[in-house]
Amino acid sequence: MDRRRFLTVLGATGGAAAAASACDIGPEPTEHLVPYVVPPENQVPGIATYYATTCRECAAGCGLHAKVREGRVIKLEGNPESPINQGRLCSRGQAALQGLYNPDRITDPMARGANGQWQKLTWDDAIGRLQAQVKQARGKGIAFVTGLESGSFGELVDAWMKEIGGRHVTYEPFAFEALREGNRIAFGTSAIPSYDFANARYILSFGADFMETWLSPVGYQNAFTRAHAFDASRDGSMAKFVFVGPRLSLTGMSADEWVVTKPGTEFMLALAMAQVILTERLAPPLTPADAARLQHLLPGPERIAGSVGVEAGKIQRLAREFAASKGGLAVAGGIAAQYGSGA
Ligand code: SF4
Repeated sequence: MDRRRFLTVLGATGGAAAAASACDIGPEPTEHLVPYVVPPENQVPGIATYYATTCRECAAGCGLHAKVREGRVIKLEGNPESPINQGRLCSRGQAALQGLYNPDRITDPMARGANGQWQKLTWDDAIGRLQAQVKQARGKGIAFVTGLESGSFGELVDAWMKEIGGRHVTYEPFAFEALREGNRIAFGTSAIPSYDFANARYILSFGADFMETWLSPVGYQNAFTRAHAFDASRDGSMAKFVFVGPRLSLTGMSADEWVVTKPGTEFMLALAMAQVILTERLAPPLTPADAARLQHLLPGPERIAGSVGVEAGKIQRLAREFAASKGGLAVAGGIAAQYGSGA
């Protein structure tokens, strides 16, 4: 009996045991003590064990150390040896334990009943149903839908789908398709690059919230901290950070300058800056054919200033600053990549 229950009993009965039953105070529920005779591998009761693993809360894949006591994970911290997060974690990574212990998580297989409502199944029932359905649909088109799976589980699903004539479909709610397509157009490779924020001299973000949700937020926070501080390993210069977008995000709040654009016009500002850089020969010259083609495609600042909501003079200044930095990094994403022109 715990202290609280003991005091409740005392208060309710005033010492009269006969009144206890009237207060609905019954005996403690029976529990069983199970000796740790054969503990799991590497587990010593009372002593924490740490496992190196990977955060799966977003596609960045930060390195983790999972602290385990008596077979249960009780804390996650960043792995200092991970080249991505270097010992740090974002709040999503810290909260990943909720996937194991949140009382609202889905703990059982479920299926819709005749009334259209979700109903819990036993594992035996669920596996039996799955086997029957797969047998029936084999060769007729089966899709196995997962999140981004790059490890052995992904390979297992691929191999299984190949065996039964199905498809492995990857669904990412925060996919970066505009970025992939932009890289395919520019470099011929449909890939997501890794950006070197740490060594940038001038950072220009067109809507990319790289310190919150974009690509690898913890890794980019680390790198930005290095670029945006008087770091001893740099040559004493501090990168300027300009954020372009209609909304001041958390990332934008760390910027030295916020350029407010009308929603969906960020790409026009980028094109106008490129036009200034080309026209004023602020970058190495292009081939005559490329220069002629781009001059035709790129609008001048005066032409788009009204649509974007930014003065032409400011666009010219940004272009000149960016080119003069001799180490500018321009990234685009987030809301700026959600329009038809996002790529
Ligand atoms: S950025 Fe955050 S959510 Fe993504 S992998 Fe790293 S710790 Fe996990």
